Amino acid sequence: MRSVVIHPPHELRVEDRPLEKMGPGQVTVAVKAGGICGSDMHYYRHGGFGTVRVREPMILGHEVAGEIVAVGEGVSALQVDDRVAVNPSRPCRACHYCLEGLPNHCEAMRFYGSAMPWPHIQGAFRERLICDASQCEAVSANVSYEELALCEPLSVVLHGVKRAGSLLQKRVLVTGSGPIGAVAVAAARHFGAEEIVVTDVVPEPLAVARRLGADRTIDVAANPDDLAVYVTGKGSFDVLFECSGNERAIRDALVALRPRGTVVQLGLAGNEVAFPLNLLVAKELALVGSFRFHEEFALAAKLIGQRRIDLSAILTRTYPVEQAVAAFEAAGDRRTAMKIHIAFA
Ligand SMILES: [Zn+2]
Ligand SMILES: [Zn+2]
Repeated sequence: MRSVVIHPPHELRVEDRPLEKMGPGQVTVAVKAGGICGSDMHYYRHGGFGTVRVREPMILGHEVAGEIVAVGEGVSALQVDDRVAVNPSRPCRACHYCLEGLPNHCEAMRFYGSAMPWPHIQGAFRERLICDASQCEAVSANVSYEELALCEPLSVVLHGVKRAGSLLQKRVLVTGSGPIGAVAVAAARHFGAEEIVVTDVVPEPLAVARRLGADRTIDVAANPDDLAVYVTGKGSFDVLFECSGNERAIRDALVALRPRGTVVQLGLAGNEVAFPLNLLVAKELALVGSFRFHEEFALAAKLIGQRRIDLSAILTRTYPVEQAVAAFEAAGDRRTAMKIHIAFA
């Protein structure tokens, strides 16, 4: 089966890998679409991020959807031909975090396409994926595989929304209009935010944020003073979804938050960032991190599968697997690409 493999330090190849054996409780998914995520891009461009390095060949990818082509012994909830989104989160279900109900903090997590553990966890950019039936969420036929593959980034955002608390009637600021920021806009709208403002330093992704429901977008590179109107008094926003990991964006956003506001930090930074601690203290802000997801995936599949949230505006283009390198190159340009997918025949 053809697979998209990163070789250390960071050479991308499409190569054949042997098909694994399907066990009881498992299914075989013909992967139809795989979305390229920021972490895949880090492996492709830099061979890792922070202290994480690609040290052995690893299949990339964790945002996939496809069609069931075989079901293993004991599987009753899924059938051949079902269209499914595949949850890439595979906690051990036995460590104390799992037992405590915090599976995203599992100590033996086998999240697809991750070079964090050794040996690395092979990813899902492959023609055939054998996975547990419990990882699959089946949906009806009127959404594309590319949209279904967006269940993963939507799950990331749903977890962030959970960390934020109620968004009903809240004024929300989103910094960074990449795929996660853009999906956060759609989610904030869905969960009742009164006003949503989005910032970025490039205009094209902001146009996508507007299509997903942003009331106002600000290109802070072109118009750095446009946030000032929200800074008057002690600030305006109740909730910040910080999706840029950028020091300047964080500082400017904290100034625009009102007292007792909440910062949900979704963006990762390439290096250490200086944090405006005194603003956090003086405004009594709540700062919460948000990392991955687990049970949110089933809800994401319902929201996308039943078209209760329409994220099609973030889809850019799909490349056949033979052109995986071109797909990764295209995904690196924020002006022309929001979410690129790779299609497997
Ligand atoms: Zn992702
Ligand atoms: Zn665990």
